[in-house]
Amino acid sequence: MKPRIFFISLVAALLIVFGTGSTFAGPTTLVYYDGHMHTTRSDGSGSVADIKATALSRGLNAVIITDHCNQLTLAEWESLVAECEAASDESFLALPGFEVTGSDGIFNRAHVNALGVEDPFVGNDEDCLCPEEVWLNPPNPAGTGALYPENITKWVDYIHSKGGIAVHNHPSGTTIPEYGVNNMEVYNQSHVDDVASYAKQLGYSDQEAWEFGITLNNFAVYGERDVNMLVPFPGFPTPIPLRNALYYATLGFTGVGQWLGAPEAPLNSWDDHLMAYVDGDVERPIFGLANSDAHNTVDADSIVGVAKNGVYLKNELSANELYKAIKAGRTFATTGPSLALDVNGELMGDTAYIFDGSADINLSVNSESPTCVLVKIDIIKNGEILQTIYPSTSTSPAWTYADILGDSVNQDGYYRVEVTSQDFVTGAYQFAWSNPVFVDIP
Ligand SMILES: [Zn+2]
Ligand SMILES: [Zn+2]
Repeated sequence: MKPRIFFISLVAALLIVFGTGSTFAGPTTLVYYDGHMHTTRSDGSGSVADIKATALSRGLNAVIITDHCNQLTLAEWESLVAECEAASDESFLALPGFEVTGSDGIFNRAHVNALGVEDPFVGNDEDCLCPEEVWLNPPNPAGTGALYPENITKWVDYIHSKGGIAVHNHPSGTTIPEYGVNNMEVYNQSHVDDVASYAKQLGYSDQEAWEFGITLNNFAVYGERDVNMLVPFPGFPTPIPLRNALYYATLGFTGVGQWLGAPEAPLNSWDDHLMAYVDGDVERPIFGLANSDAHNTVDADSIVGVAKNGVYLKNELSANELYKAIKAGRTFATTGPSLALDVNGELMGDTAYIFDGSADINLSVNSESPTCVLVKIDIIKNGEILQTIYPSTSTSPAWTYADILGDSVNQDGYYRVEVTSQDFVTGAYQFAWSNPVFVDIP
């Protein structure tokens, strides 16, 4: 396998990522949290205090610390809880969570974050058994996704039995409805950085490597909507889809071809999951999150807060209020821009009941940086791009977009928005993804 050829397809597959925004009715407060990171208790480099220092410098109001459960002792868990309590006050929350850590691999990593669970250990605490140690999920030698998907469902059931929230991490389009997770990461900074660093080791430029990382990340959001690119590939019928190219590439590198999810297309995109809810095939929607998954938590270049979630709180900041909003989808995922979205006054995660066939989509977006301009806003309706707005070609700082857009509604569905901004000094792109507002014709 020639990595260069492999990569050409990835470059060709550069995704245009979208963003969103909106205005907001009602008394709410916007706070930010990063919900995925590691301390020295597992494979992170920093302490809770280190994390708090970075989080405050990045404007976060809360962090959720999620060490790998299978690397924790009971004493370590208790010390994490104590350090989090000590680091928390009325203006900042450090909350203990944990990452249920199953099989590893390039694409099909079965990792689920547990938020708001007070006890990670199944059964007797002294036995210190994590969900992934009770219900195993070893690597799948065939490279076709989770070997025991039913065990991932058991992790989620355990998390729910403890009153917690289950988040599928860095999923690459491999989330299946049967897992029953509440949320999924539509963006994981560490995943993007890892994939980019593999590509750089193969000799690709920083820009190409970043595009590759974004492309693989975005399988989770779009499935193959935008990345099922046709790829020239030597020795095979040309062109072939990107996911097949990835299979042959991993076969060449590791001897085991890795499919994203399964050999059969398509992947389960976030939009597929949302439509499954609209169609009544599942009881709950899966809401999207962005997290840093920081491991370099003591370093000067710690990525804590580089990806984060904006949360609209209806009451004062507390662990309970934060978890309620995450579960309700009253959040947007972002690496920079902020947004607010409502449809006929209903917030993200809620349902607007449509009686007159029309929807007012209230949208506001801000780049949140004096050197960033909004370059693209996509409004997604039922998994398809309804409208694309190019708000600015100027370099006016912190560009803000606000508008009310009308649409006619003749079927149940949802609206969500995606925002792209660009730093005109560095050229770097930043993104935001709203959670959906559902529409229902009674
Ligand atoms: Zn993970
Ligand atoms: Zn992690």
